[in-house]
Amino acid sequence: MVQKVIIFFIICSVSLLSSCESKEVKEVGGVAQGNHNMVLKENTIPEARFPADFSWKNEYLLEIMGESSFLEKKTVASMQKWRDEIIEFSKTQDRLFINGPNKKQVALTFDDGPDSTVTSAVIGVLDKYGVKGNFFFLGSEVEKHPEVVKEAYEKGHLVLSHSYNHIQLDQLGEAEIQNEIERAGNVIESIIGKEPAFIRTPYGSTNELVAGVAKENKYSIILWSIDSLDWAQKSPDVIYSNVDANIRNGDIILMHTDSDEYDTYEALPGIIEKLQERGFEIVDLETMLGIPAYQ
Ligand SMILES: [Zn+2]
Repeated sequence: MVQKVIIFFIICSVSLLSSCESKEVKEVGGVAQGNHNMVLKENTIPEARFPADFSWKNEYLLEIMGESSFLEKKTVASMQKWRDEIIEFSKTQDRLFINGPNKKQVALTFDDGPDSTVTSAVIGVLDKYGVKGNFFFLGSEVEKHPEVVKEAYEKGHLVLSHSYNHIQLDQLGEAEIQNEIERAGNVIESIIGKEPAFIRTPYGSTNELVAGVAKENKYSIILWSIDSLDWAQKSPDVIYSNVDANIRNGDIILMHTDSDEYDTYEALPGIIEKLQERGFEIVDLETMLGIPAYQ
């Protein structure tokens, strides 16, 4: 096997053909179709495969969409204020993403899991449609449901960090921020053997210090450009229309899979079908952004 890999690697290095990549994934991994990360980890192929060209980032910066009549005016106002501020802040940070490039691709992201019911159900829907999801898991919940984390990973979905305790990181000092990131990374690594390289800060709350500590730990911060607002309303129809009414190239869609998000699970098939019908490719964040999802 080792010999095979070395020979293959030489051929790949010389030819730089993308066809080598998919061939090798099958040979080495056999875990998940098209899991680019397997290639990276097994053969330490240089990061050049993921060209670090983010020149599109500030040129194609989307407004954050999604609304709910269930929210009080005051909440809507403070949510809008945060949206405006974070967009401006993202322009100053090379590894903080609101959305992906201007291609007909979108990413489905799920925060706050894993749990004992909804996360697995959502994985089932994604698998049924043959699309990849991105799970920003909480370290504290990962410890309670390691089998769900394994399931997500083994089925080829991205297992990413949402910190350990779900507290507002921009209210913490440097050492505490470090602890939140490191602890979540460690507990995920103890289950899937890899530490994520993507974090979504709880509530999206981020400042210079949080971004700095994340970067030191080799994490990109991934936020969202469509909020399905599944946390604000228990109605699959409204979750669906927040996506359908607002979808654009490169959208990163925020949803949740904690245990009271059964409506997200119910809304998901309609969302996937509609996106596909409208010609959007549903991809994982690694594919969308061209950055390896794991360290
Ligand atoms: Zn959250």
